[in-house]
Amino acid sequence: MANVYNWQLGRDMNYRFDPAAPTWQFAAVFNTNRCLACQTCTMACKSTWTFSEGQEDMWWNNVETKPYGGYPRHWDVKTLDLLEQANPGGQTWSEDAGGPEAPYGSYEGSTIFDAGRSVGQHALGYTPTDEEWASPNIHEDSPVSQGALAKGVTLPVHETWFFYLQRLCNHCSYPACLSACPRNAIYKREEDGIVLIDQERCRGYRKCVEQCPYKKPMYRADSRTSEKCIGCFPRVEGSDPLTEGLPMETRCMAVCPGQIRLQGLVSMEADGSWTHDPDNPLYYLIREEQMALPLYPQFGTSPNVYYFPPRWVPRPYLRQMFGPGADRAIEAYVRPSRRAQAVLQLFRVSQSIIFSFEVIDGEKVNEINVNGKTMEIFNDTVIGYGRDGQEIVRVTVIEPQFERPDQFLNTI
Ligand code: SF4
Ligand code: SF4
Repeated sequence: MANVYNWQLGRDMNYRFDPAAPTWQFAAVFNTNRCLACQTCTMACKSTWTFSEGQEDMWWNNVETKPYGGYPRHWDVKTLDLLEQANPGGQTWSEDAGGPEAPYGSYEGSTIFDAGRSVGQHALGYTPTDEEWASPNIHEDSPVSQGALAKGVTLPVHETWFFYLQRLCNHCSYPACLSACPRNAIYKREEDGIVLIDQERCRGYRKCVEQCPYKKPMYRADSRTSEKCIGCFPRVEGSDPLTEGLPMETRCMAVCPGQIRLQGLVSMEADGSWTHDPDNPLYYLIREEQMALPLYPQFGTSPNVYYFPPRWVPRPYLRQMFGPGADRAIEAYVRPSRRAQAVLQLFRVSQSIIFSFEVIDGEKVNEINVNGKTMEIFNDTVIGYGRDGQEIVRVTVIEPQFERPDQFLNTI
């Protein structure tokens, strides 16, 4: 058992292995405020990786309607309940947020690793039933306070609410699936932090299914092995011919019509901390602006998919799901800084991974009032650069409009 530092918790914690930081870490930011629940991401993943016989109930990417939906059903409520049973009333955070070491404060409760030790496991978990895996999109669009629609739509918080939560493997920094495996069949890649299951070593004991709190490893009965999201690693490596060697975003990210997803790689230090890199769009949104937050950081796995919380949802629910940074994250999102306004334009404008960005000042085009405060809007230009510093995209804050000449109105 090793002592490791988890910056999302602002404290040390127990983990089975010593930290082995990758050079780069796969990471993504999702904007829950914009998701359409069109499931294009879900189907893109399905048609790429899990279309075979034996994988029928396997959805590495899914989009569920919160608070009632879940794949598998009740995955988060069940794990929260297990933590509560192990440490009644103890899952609290201190208020002393500050600095890159503890941006959200310090978590004083039990992680799944802390709680697992008391029952002789590497992490606390449970194995979902077949029935819980059978309905990936159950309770779609079911709101809280159903029937109170007429009075429920005033910001800042709607009385009637639901939202879409996009989920895939978080390629965690301290993966519970990896620490759970008695065969040491799960590993985290040095070059990009993607977590994979070695199909040759796996014997289908399903300890990863039990101990991943996000329930992202899935058992396949016909091969008797567990499988999980592979982070589209051939694309991230740059092996896809489409981008001629440039690292490329995953299938689920690249297809998103809602333009809610931005995925890339963040640079890591040898001690597992993030390299200070405010020109990387992911680093900027997650660490500088703190606009995007980890999903259930209290579980302790240090997940690497981050979310802009939905701004109309009651804050206690969001604090439970995204930690105590939820209020600040919403404030940063609803009235973004000038630089953030530019970076937000980078979502889904390129299939190539954007490693850094630059903002060129443009003219002021508007001034609006947001929650009693003034927000200025500038038509700045943001340039996204690839791994080797080459320009791969250039967009403006105000989307240009083009009018088709009359002679092309009917091209039949
Ligand atoms: S493709 Fe994008 S908008 Fe559609 S469900 Fe997935 S994340 Fe949401
Ligand atoms: S989300 Fe689950 S399966 Fe993915 S790396 Fe984390 S613990 Fe492992």
